[in-house]
Amino acid sequence: MNSPAAAYQATKGGALDVDRDLYSGIAEGKRELVDAFEIPIRSGRAWRVPRGHVCRLVTVEGPQVGDLNIWNAEDPRERLWASRTRQLQRAHVSTYDRLWSNLPFLRPLVTVTADTLAGYGVDGEGGRVHDLLGTRCDPYVNRMLTGEDFDFHCHSNLVRAVLPYGLTEFDVHDVLNVFQCTGLNDEDRYFMKACPARPGDYFEFFAELDLLCALSTCPGGDLSVPLWGPDAGDPLEVCHPIGVEVYRPAAELLDGWNPPERAKYRHLHGLVAPRWGD
Ligand code: ZN
Repeated sequence: MNSPAAAYQATKGGALDVDRDLYSGIAEGKRELVDAFEIPIRSGRAWRVPRGHVCRLVTVEGPQVGDLNIWNAEDPRERLWASRTRQLQRAHVSTYDRLWSNLPFLRPLVTVTADTLAGYGVDGEGGRVHDLLGTRCDPYVNRMLTGEDFDFHCHSNLVRAVLPYGLTEFDVHDVLNVFQCTGLNDEDRYFMKACPARPGDYFEFFAELDLLCALSTCPGGDLSVPLWGPDAGDPLEVCHPIGVEVYRPAAELLDGWNPPERAKYRHLHGLVAPRWGD
C-alpha cells in the first residue's frame, strides 16, 4: 500500500524549504569551541546559545536520553512547539529538520545540522530516534502510576535548571527527546526502546535566534529498563551523562543566512477594539 503524501510539503523557495548547502557548510566548516560542559546523570542544566552558533549534544560515555527545551532567550513566551513541528517536519527529527516556535511567533528556533544516528532510520519494529511524539517524564504521572514520589524526573530536572534564569515550572514545555528511540505500535500506542547511541554519538543544531536551552539527563538512562509496569526496575546502571558543546562557526559560513522573522499575520483574529468617536 502506498502511504499518503505528507500534509505539509516544502515548495522550492517556500517557508519550509531549507538551504541544505548553507547548513552543510556550517556543519562541515571551520568553527571555534566557545563553551563545553557535561550534564551528570539524573540532572538538568540550562545554557545560552547565541544566534548563529551551533550546539552539539554528545553521548560521551554511552547511550542516554536527553529531554530538551528551547526558548527565545529574549522572550521566553516564545518556545518550542513540539506538535506543530511534528506536522511541519516529522515525528522524529534529523539533519535539516527545524524545530518551530509557538504562536504568535511561528518561526524556526533551530535547524538540525548533524546527527550521527541518522543512519538508524526506521527499525524492524517501527522505532525511530530523536522523538517528538512523547514528552518528558514527570513526578505527577509517576506518583499517579506508582504511588511513589521521585524528584529527579526530567520535568523536575528542567524546572531546577531554569529557575536561575527567572523561569518556572510553567515555562517547561513538551520536549524533544534527543537520542530516544520510540514509535507507535499496531494499536497506535506509544512505545519506547533502548537508546541506540554509542559513546561519541552526537546531535547538533544551529541557533536561528538567541536561545536559552535546557536539557535533562533522563533518570531512565537509555530506557532499556521499564520505569513503570510489571517489569519495572531501577535503571541507575544504564544512566550516563550528556556532553554539551557550543561552537561559533567561521563568519563566512553564515553568508546568506538571516535570522528568521516572526510570523507575518497581524490581523488580531478579526477583532477590532472600539475607538472613541467612531
Ligand atoms: Zn525523563
